[in-house]
Amino acid sequence: MGNDQDQPHIYGTEELLVLQHGDTIVQGDPRSYLKRLEKEHMIRVWKDKASKQAKWFTRYPTQILNQSKQVWKWSVESGNGKAWLYFIFGVCQWLPTNYRMNYFLDTQRKQCNLCLCNSLDTMDHLLQCPALPKSKFY
Ligand SMILES: [Zn+2]
Repeated sequence: MGNDQDQPHIYGTEELLVLQHGDTIVQGDPRSYLKRLEKEHMIRVWKDKASKQAKWFTRYPTQILNQSKQVWKWSVESGNGKAWLYFIFGVCQWLPTNYRMNYFLDTQRKQCNLCLCNSLDTMDHLLQCPALPKSKFY
C-alpha cells in the first residue's frame, strides 16, 4: 500500500455535485428525497393540527396510501373527481352521516336509515352496517 498521496486521483469517478441535508448525504434522485421529506412534513402537520381527521391514517397508513393511489387513478381515468372527494371525506371522517348532519338535533334523526338496528349513523357504523353489502377487501 503506502501513502494516499502516492495514489493517482481519478476524477472521472467522483460525483460532480453532492447534496447534503443536515447530516444526510442525498443519494439518487434528489426529487424523490424532497418528495419524501414533503410527505413526512405534511403527515406530521396533519397529525398535529387535525388529530381526529388523521385518526384513520395514523391507524392504517399503508392501506390508506395504497388506496389513495387507486382512487386517484380511477378518478383521473373516469374524468370525475367525485370519487376522490368521497375518499378524502371518508378518510378524514367528514362524510355527511346522519349523526354528523343532525348533531344538534334529537337522537332519532341521528340513526341509520338503512338498517333496523337503531344504531347511530356514525363512520364506525357505516363500516359495519348490516344493510350494506360486505366488501371483499375486509
Ligand atoms: Zn345501518
